[in-house]
Amino acid sequence: MRLSRFFLPILKENPREAEIVSHRLMLRAGMIRQQAAGSFSWLPLGKRVLDKVCQIIREEQNRAGAQEILMPTIQSAELWRESGRYDDYGKEMLRIIDRHERDMLYGPTNEEMVTDIFRSYVRSYKDLPLNLYHIQWKFRDEVRPRFGVMRSREFLMKDAYSFDLDFEGAKAAYNRMFVAYLRTFSRMGLQAIPMRAETGPIGGDLSHEFIILASTGESAVFCHKNFLDLPVPGPETDFSDDAAIGNIVKEWTTPYAATDEMHDEAVWSEVSEGDRLSARGIEVGHIFHFGTKYSKPMKASVTGPDGKEHFVSMGSYGIGPSRLIAAIIEASHDENGIIWPESVTPFDIALINMKTGDAECDRVCEDLYAKLGAAGRDVLYDDTDQRAGGKFATADLIGLPWQVIVGPRGVAAGEVEVKNRVTGERENMSIEGVVARFGSSV
Ligand code: ATP
Ligand code: MG
Repeated sequence: MRLSRFFLPILKENPREAEIVSHRLMLRAGMIRQQAAGSFSWLPLGKRVLDKVCQIIREEQNRAGAQEILMPTIQSAELWRESGRYDDYGKEMLRIIDRHERDMLYGPTNEEMVTDIFRSYVRSYKDLPLNLYHIQWKFRDEVRPRFGVMRSREFLMKDAYSFDLDFEGAKAAYNRMFVAYLRTFSRMGLQAIPMRAETGPIGGDLSHEFIILASTGESAVFCHKNFLDLPVPGPETDFSDDAAIGNIVKEWTTPYAATDEMHDEAVWSEVSEGDRLSARGIEVGHIFHFGTKYSKPMKASVTGPDGKEHFVSMGSYGIGPSRLIAAIIEASHDENGIIWPESVTPFDIALINMKTGDAECDRVCEDLYAKLGAAGRDVLYDDTDQRAGGKFATADLIGLPWQVIVGPRGVAAGEVEVKNRVTGERENMSIEGVVARFGSSV
C-alpha cells in the first residue's frame, strides 16, 4: 500500500478526551473514530489490526474444536423471556420496538439464541460435544463508557458456547477453551493470567477471567510471580486428550491468582512476600460454566446412552477483540507511539523514501516495494512528499515492527537502513540483503 493513497488520518495533537495511552494512540494513529458515546468506526489501519486479532482467535477456537457460525445482532425478546433474562438484564440492554410493535433487542450476548439453535436440531448425546462460536458486535449500554474501545457500548466479541451431556463433559469443554485462551493471548504477544472469577448461584470453580497486567487496568489483581514464567502450550497440543488438557489447566490454576472480588487475604498471606505480584489488570477474556441455567428453562435436551432425556450442560467463553487491541497497545508502546507485535501488525514493513522525487531513491523504493510485496510482505510505502522527520514520526507512531529507510546517501553506496521498532537498533544493509532478510521468512 502506498501511503499517498492510504486513508490514514493522523492527528498531530493529543486528543483531549483520551485519558489513557491506548485511546490516545489509537486516535492519533487514525485507527478509530468516535461516532457517539462508546461507539467507534474502525478506519483502515485499525481494521487491519482487528482482522488479524480475530484471525488468531478464530484459528485457536477451531484448533480446540469449536465451530464458527454467525448469529444476528438484533434478537427477539421472546427468547429472552423464555430464559427469564428479559426482565433481569436491566438498563445495559438496548431495547428496540419494530414496526409491528414487537419487542426486540440489540444482543449484549447470545446464550438464548444459541440454545435455541441447539434445541432445534440436536437430539442425541452422540452429537456431543458441540461448541459453536461467533465473532459479532454486541451492544451494552454501559453506565460509563470510557477509555475508547476498552470500555465501549458497541464492541466486538467472540463468544463460544459449549454443549455436553453431563458435568464431566462440560468440564473437559471448559478446559479446552481455557488452553485455547492461553495460546490465543500468547500469540498476540500478551501475558494473560487466568484468575478465579465469581460463579454466583452456579457455584463451583469453573469461571476464570483472563487478565493482562497493566497500570491502567480497571481491576486490582493479586497473583503469584510464577505465572510470568509458566510455559504456554504449543501448537502441537492435542485437544482430544482430556487428561493432558486437564493437566495444563491444573498447572495454570495452582498458583494463587485472583481479582479483588475473589481475593482472599488469608490464602494470599501464605504466598511468600517476594513471590507476590499485586497490580492492576485488564480483563480480555472470561470463561464460565453454567450447567443447565439456560437448557432447563429453554428445554434443550438430548437422549443419553441410558435412553433418558438430559438437559445439556453448557458453558460460555468470551473474548473482546476490540478491547484486546487497546490492551495490546497498553502493553506495547513507547513515547513515540505504538509497537505492534509481528502477529497483529497492520503492515509488516514501513518503507520510507527520505527524498521522494529523487530518481535513485524512487527507483530503489519501487524495486523494494515490488520485491517485498511479491514475497508476501505487507509493505506500507511512504511515497509522500512530507519531510523525512515527519515520515519517521509517522512510522514510529503507527508502530510497524520494521522500517526500511531509503535515503540519497545510502542509495549512492548501494545501501538502505533497517530499523527495528522494538529495540530501536539500526543496521545498514544492501538492497539484496533487505530482500533476502524479509523476503525469505514468509
Ligand atoms: P467487564 O467486567 O469488563 O464489564 P464483562 O464481565 O461484562 O466485562 P463478559 O460479559 O464476560 O464481560 O464479556 C466477555 C468479554 O467481552 C470481556 O472479557 C471483554 O473482553 C469484552 N467486553 C465486555 N464488555 C466490554 C465493553 N464494554 N467494551 C469492550 N469490550 C468488552
Ligand atoms: Mg460488563
